[in-house]
Amino acid sequence: MRHQLLYADAASRPERPSTRPPLRGVAPAELSWLRTRFKGEIVLPADAAYATAREGFNPRYDPHPAAVLSPHDAADLRIALALVQRTGLPVAVRGGGHSLTGRSNTDGIVIDMVHFQSIAIDGTTATVGAGCRQGPLRQALQEKHLHLPMGDSGQVAIGGFMQGGGYGHTARCFGMNSDHVTAVTVMLADGRIVHADARRNADLFWATRGGAGGGFGVLLEITYRFHAAPRLAYDSLVWRAQTDAERASAAAVIAMVERDFTGTGAPGTSVEMLLTFGAPGHEGPWLFLNAAHLGNARGLTHALAPLVAAAPPFAGYDEAWNGHHDATHALSRQARYLNRSPGLDGWRALVEVVATGAAHRATLYLHPHGDAIDAVPREASAFIHRTASCLVAQDVFWPAAEAGDDALALQRRWAGLVRPYSAGRVYQNFPNDELADYREAYWGEAFPALLAVRRKYDPVFFFAGKQDVSPHPDRGEPPALWPPHVADALARPIMA
Ligand SMILES: Cc1cc2nc3c(=O)[nH]c(=O)nc-3n(C[C@H](O)[C@H](O)[C@H](O)COP(=O)(O)OP(=O)(O)OC[C@H]3O[C@@H](n4cnc5c(N)ncnc54)[C@H](O)[C@@H]3O)c2cc1C
Repeated sequence: MRHQLLYADAASRPERPSTRPPLRGVAPAELSWLRTRFKGEIVLPADAAYATAREGFNPRYDPHPAAVLSPHDAADLRIALALVQRTGLPVAVRGGGHSLTGRSNTDGIVIDMVHFQSIAIDGTTATVGAGCRQGPLRQALQEKHLHLPMGDSGQVAIGGFMQGGGYGHTARCFGMNSDHVTAVTVMLADGRIVHADARRNADLFWATRGGAGGGFGVLLEITYRFHAAPRLAYDSLVWRAQTDAERASAAAVIAMVERDFTGTGAPGTSVEMLLTFGAPGHEGPWLFLNAAHLGNARGLTHALAPLVAAAPPFAGYDEAWNGHHDATHALSRQARYLNRSPGLDGWRALVEVVATGAAHRATLYLHPHGDAIDAVPREASAFIHRTASCLVAQDVFWPAAEAGDDALALQRRWAGLVRPYSAGRVYQNFPNDELADYREAYWGEAFPALLAVRRKYDPVFFFAGKQDVSPHPDRGEPPALWPPHVADALARPIMA
């Protein structure tokens, strides 16, 4: 059995009524131009479907797009991009709409990739449409006994997930999702389709795996290689973290996981942890651990034995007790990669802020790194967080109609507590608008090359969006010298 925080999916959300018109609509003449060419769906503010079509995952963001366009194919997508050119409106590309900071939303034109969900499996490789949701992809792979590290939510789209790196439950066993990509196909702003792999347009290939999407072009397809029929054992453990003593014990378990299941510890074993509230009537917090092991159940039991001995898990846990995210609540996540251990006292303090934040449904994630993640060279892709011991993340929630000041204050306190143990690097799939320097936090020394790739493939910054790959307002642009193979590829023209 696997435990997870249950998020409401888009289909079960209450509609949020539109309270203001878009900043600028699409002019009638442009709409007529579009309607005679475009085969996909066009949703405008006056349409009944607008209330649902305009939304992203996080109700903290309240976009009012001038139009939401869902192209049926590449030719349609080209027309949608041409409309953006003609109107001069901003554009955002939407995969599954699960950006935590509303990055796939805009008050201009949203291009929704919902129809790009093809899955074509051939042996141990497959080409997958960028809008494909993880749920159907996981199902298709399971039927063929193939494995690819993927995240927990079936609704997250592979295009957005992979471009940020893509951490899955089995990442320590096999690496990041993006480490399994062998080629991508991208439509540039002018409608050209380019293929990128290790040889062709190698700079774009490098940038799409970690560059976090939206900045180079529209990702159409991803080609993966999979693991064939790996022998994997899974298990879950749960501890209650309600009383003082239980929380001290939970902190000790987390400290053990950090010590024994990161870096080169426990090879072939992936664990992820979640400290979260319980469902109404089953108050927690609860500390969950999901484990995957390359091998059999006995091997996994052996790997987990020291944890179980140190803090006996809670018996008789019922899945229905798991915390539910209320879809009317806004969410903020702060994440940090750790490169120094907080030790027992540090973990105790980090756990305590979460546990006492019940009013804000505060939640703590631990994603251990190392093993197969670190086996991939740092320069292989724009996902550079290879040597961190683990990623910790904290969520807070508040009613979307409110400002969330108290919840955000609690989160800032938590971020202050974690600061001594982190160099400030942040997982680009867990973005936060409050970061002082997101370029450094998400991409570090990869940033100059990412910016050069952007200038080559999207020279007019057509796909401009928040926290995108764009020049720092107060700094010059250092030369893109690293990694060398990207610097070489940058010197070559775009290959059609
Ligand atoms: C419930 C939930 C569970 C999650 N679980 C995990 C997890 O287990 N592991 C993990 O690593 N992350 C996880 N995430 C984070 C998730 O990976 C990111 O939010 C990801 O960016 C979402 O992708 P999306 O396409 O669904 O979102 P969107 O909001 O549609 O897109 C995210 C970004 O990618 C861009 N983008 C999307 N599609 C394309 C495209 N075809 N071409 C160009 N740009 C595109 C968008 O413009 C935007 O900037 C989770 C998030 C949520 C909300």
